Amino acid sequence: MLAAFSYARLRRQNSTVDEEVEKLKQRLPLLDYLRRQNWTARPAGHGSEFVGLCPLHPETRPSFYVNASKNLFYCHGCGQGGDLLRFVQLSRHLSFHQSLTYLQEQSAPPADPAAVLEQAATFYQQQLDRYPEALHYLKHRGLHNPASIQDLRIGYASGASLRRHLTAQGHSFDLLRRLGLLNRQDCDAFYRRVVFPCCQAGRIVNLYGRSIDAACAHRFLPGSKGGL
Ligand SMILES: [Zn+2]
Repeated sequence: MLAAFSYARLRRQNSTVDEEVEKLKQRLPLLDYLRRQNWTARPAGHGSEFVGLCPLHPETRPSFYVNASKNLFYCHGCGQGGDLLRFVQLSRHLSFHQSLTYLQEQSAPPADPAAVLEQAATFYQQQLDRYPEALHYLKHRGLHNPASIQDLRIGYASGASLRRHLTAQGHSFDLLRRLGLLNRQDCDAFYRRVVFPCCQAGRIVNLYGRSIDAACAHRFLPGSKGGL
């Protein structure tokens, strides 16, 4: 029973990592990554193949091929091949997980705190209907009307999934920590909280998390409170 449970959990974890890797490879194609590393190549034949000198071993005649549509490389000189993650592991001597973290930071969009808060608010908003305790709390506080809840963009932070969502979008742990969305242990800062976005001139400048458990204090993220 225990073995079956652990196996199911392991499989779930692996599928999450697979999804993260797939999203990353779409966001940062292998050819783009190589070009950023100053790899020069010429088209090889038709279609989406390119060839250049191998970045993984010394050579004078190009034998490193990249298939841009398959997002894969192969070197006829040293026999190495694979995807972006494999290339980073080989070229930077990193483990699989270190490579993943490195690439997530490399592919991070320029930090725009308002855009990240916007993504966090949207995510929390999408979660609200899944948690009866949050809807119950709102009802208890006199908010019954789904249209008002929608207008105020009220959401719910269950406390276990924002980090995964935002890092999969390419945001670094460092940025999420600075915005206060992650705590010092790198876990979601808002846990079992109904979340209200605070806006200024149409942009979200902060999130207010109202704890649905009486024991926890209500709190804002660090930074401007949006004139509240
Ligand atoms: Zn090679």
